[in-house]
Amino acid sequence: MRPTAPLIAGIEAGGTKFNIAVGTGPNDIRATTRIETADPKKTLRQVMQWLASACRKHGAIKAIGIGSFGPIDLDPESATYGYITTTPKPEWPHTDLIGPLHARFQVPIGFDTDVNAAAIGEYAWGAGRGCDPLVYITIGTGVGGGVLVHGKPLHGMLHPEIGHLHVPAPHTRGVIFDKCHCPFHQSCLEGFVSGPAIAARWGIKGEEMPADHPAWEEVALTLAYGLVNVILTLSPRRIIVGGGVMHQAGLIDATRSHVLRLLNGYLHVPQLLQEIETYIVPPGLGDSSGVCGAIALGIEALHRTAA
Ligand code: ADP
Ligand code: ZN
Repeated sequence: MRPTAPLIAGIEAGGTKFNIAVGTGPNDIRATTRIETADPKKTLRQVMQWLASACRKHGAIKAIGIGSFGPIDLDPESATYGYITTTPKPEWPHTDLIGPLHARFQVPIGFDTDVNAAAIGEYAWGAGRGCDPLVYITIGTGVGGGVLVHGKPLHGMLHPEIGHLHVPAPHTRGVIFDKCHCPFHQSCLEGFVSGPAIAARWGIKGEEMPADHPAWEEVALTLAYGLVNVILTLSPRRIIVGGGVMHQAGLIDATRSHVLRLLNGYLHVPQLLQEIETYIVPPGLGDSSGVCGAIALGIEALHRTAA
């Protein structure tokens, strides 16, 4: 008989909500909840209360994984490892996420960015299985990306900031729109294709726009510039594109067409030329990539301590 897989808590710590799940993987989730992101003290207290009650119902958790909004300190040698650091989100700068959870549950804790967690979830169980390297990009309130090499997140100096790749300003019918929505940059991906950027540009939220709105052509082309740069730099075996904005029907198809047009046959591989539908893909785990990836981070942390 196979030993029962250990119970893990996955926490997707987002700027608007914390998604939490207790289980062993996407096909065995015993309990989930969503907690609004209030101030750190209140939010962490609610997270811990919910986890404690989930443990009473379903058994003790053996590890915790956290995929968090950032910026976060990912250096295990640093005194502030496990902290959210200089976030502009009020009350959240310099918040220790690992410390209180470790004090309360005394289990190994895996920690990474929200997008790396989503990438790891997709690599373990979703649309990115066996893809090395794998890139996961989310187009939502912000734009962010995670890169996995041999299944492990690429951290580097800080965290790769795919969301802020510089791209040409979009234009519709020859009129250039150059009011990038990013406070740091004059012409970056997030500044043009994030949900708030689209809403600011057109005065209407993406979810309320019809499929034939001219916005989508611009978003598809601008996103394609970003993806082309990612393809040329990292040569990923697959790119997963998720987030709220990608719920727009037809956007992924239009983006694929622009990617092919911009690459112009330069990369002569069947993955792009014949099978782009399986190369640029939506997340296999839907909106659960992040929380499932957090469970995967917990599993990894458990294996690390057992080794
Ligand atoms: P977050 O990035 O905060 O985790 P989401 O990935 O859900 O959240 O993205 C939220 C953004 O997606 C919002 O700006 C919203 O306007 C946009 N959005 C949600 N649904 C759609 C849709 N069907 N079409 C286009 N944009 C959408
Ligand atoms: Zn930017």
